[in-house]
Amino acid sequence: LKTTTTSPATWAYSRDDALAWRPASSLLHQLRHLGVRALIRDDAEATALASADFGNMSDAQPPAAAVLYPSCPEDIATLLRASCTRPSPFPVSARGCGHSTRGQASAPRGVVVDMMSLGCHAGGSASRLSVSVDGRYVDAGGEQLWVDVLRAALAHGLTPRSWTDYLHLTVGGTLSNAGISGQAFRHGPQISNVQELDVITGLGEMVRCSKEKHGDLFDAVLGGLGQFGVITRARIPLTPAPARARWVRLFYTGAAALTGDQERLIGVDLGTAVSGLMDYVEGSVVLADQGRVGSWRSSFFSDADAARIAALAEEVGGVLYCLEGALYYGGAARGGEADVDQRLNVLLGELRYARGFAFVQDVSYAGFLDRVRDGELKLRASGLWDVPHPWLNLFLPRSRVLDFAAGVFHGILRRDSTTGAMGPVLVYPMNRNRWDADTSAVLPEEEEVFYTVGILRSSVPASTDGGRQLLRRLEEQNEEILRFCEETGIPCVQYLPYYADQDGWEKKHFGLAKWARFVDRKRKYDPKAILSRGQRIFTSPL
Ligand code: FAD
Repeated sequence: LKTTTTSPATWAYSRDDALAWRPASSLLHQLRHLGVRALIRDDAEATALASADFGNMSDAQPPAAAVLYPSCPEDIATLLRASCTRPSPFPVSARGCGHSTRGQASAPRGVVVDMMSLGCHAGGSASRLSVSVDGRYVDAGGEQLWVDVLRAALAHGLTPRSWTDYLHLTVGGTLSNAGISGQAFRHGPQISNVQELDVITGLGEMVRCSKEKHGDLFDAVLGGLGQFGVITRARIPLTPAPARARWVRLFYTGAAALTGDQERLIGVDLGTAVSGLMDYVEGSVVLADQGRVGSWRSSFFSDADAARIAALAEEVGGVLYCLEGALYYGGAARGGEADVDQRLNVLLGELRYARGFAFVQDVSYAGFLDRVRDGELKLRASGLWDVPHPWLNLFLPRSRVLDFAAGVFHGILRRDSTTGAMGPVLVYPMNRNRWDADTSAVLPEEEEVFYTVGILRSSVPASTDGGRQLLRRLEEQNEEILRFCEETGIPCVQYLPYYADQDGWEKKHFGLAKWARFVDRKRKYDPKAILSRGQRIFTSPL
């Protein structure tokens, strides 16, 4: 990412230089007297980096005025206390890796806290990532990457249960949303897999919280979009780790067959033979003009197989579906190779994919979890990673997924060409009973099973006319999809949500009851509305 943090080791500034504020700014002048041990920078390079994100889309929000590089959680608490005791508080946003797409981690005219710098100080990253002696949990700094959490746990033969598809995201960043992947149907999202948090509220108070102690703050922060506090540590339960995974991709010629099989696999119909056989269940839509099959999500197919898949897509009208699954084995997982082969054979016999279109790879457990990295490195090498990402993620109830597929996959996404756009379109189900309704995450209310649809497309560099046009077209399609859902009464909510103003948050995202609870919690933990203003939820004190 061009938006990653500047390593303190490479800074040309000494601490005194960094604190030599431009006298014109009263905010910076005050920060100078804070007495934090952290570095603070207000030069254009630092503020531009801290205000940019993975979305790479021009944003109307003003950039940050300064960046704090904390050396310890107390530095963040000092900053927050300084803001909330001012007559006009300044915005403060924690920024993990900036993998947001619409400025959510920015702090317009305020201070971005570069969380990654916590891991660069005394004792380094290792001191902020430790597995308990009894092996029951790992304590991870909010700035730690999930890939490092995995490495630390695997060194003890252990693993967290719930993941995201991409592991180079911070613990605090994903817990502020939900953290979902193909394990969520069984174990719930990452926010359902946390025992304890250290949080610094918008009042600058450092609070250790869990379900049992300060439970309301704990629930508020999980899925809380950075609105209630900065997560500086999370305690994540561990379980013995499998050694390997059989990684499967099966192609389907229709949405009904795909979703029917996905639901059997996640145990909606417990009477069937395949329920519970897979440890990971996802799925995607393959559009004939999509470009590279698989895109950044890894290279899985030979050129010959990719050509066969593309031909099948053309044959069935341009839209194909792919079920992606994994069966863990070896290590602490049940059974060895013979057992996994037997489970796989049952699956391949029972599932309703297009015969001849089953693809299986055998990989290490760690390799499977970190599968997106390979695609990322390839895209980076060809200059296609730091491009605009107008992503749209939705949750919608099970009963409407086929209506959505007909209108969006076979309609909106097929009708107008967006040649040049790349990236996967994910679709997979989850069980609502694995989510905790007390957290701040918002789900469709109606049904026990709901789907996530991730339209994760990227444009080409926006510096060209073609790039600008393609981005505009992709943005228009996103709006068309949201309009389609509204007009056909599909009650979807956005995941990794974006609304331009508070009205959108209140009416479209939360709805009356959840909005009232969200506001109530904001009043308690960040009444001056200092935190994560880049989300555009609250713009003034409550
Ligand atoms: P940032 O963009 O830095 O911050 C996001 C929000 O969280 C901001 O509001 C920020 O203020 C707040 N925040 C950040 N750190 C903290 C903290 N320590 N305490 C409190 N608030 C904080 N998500 C999934 O669920 N599943 C996936 O499979 C998945 N795959 C992805 C793949 C890619 C390539 C990318 C770019 C994103 C993916 N995401 C996925 C989305 C990702 O989980 C979110 O964008 C997440 O916020 C990224 O973490 P970050 O540290 O980069 O957050």
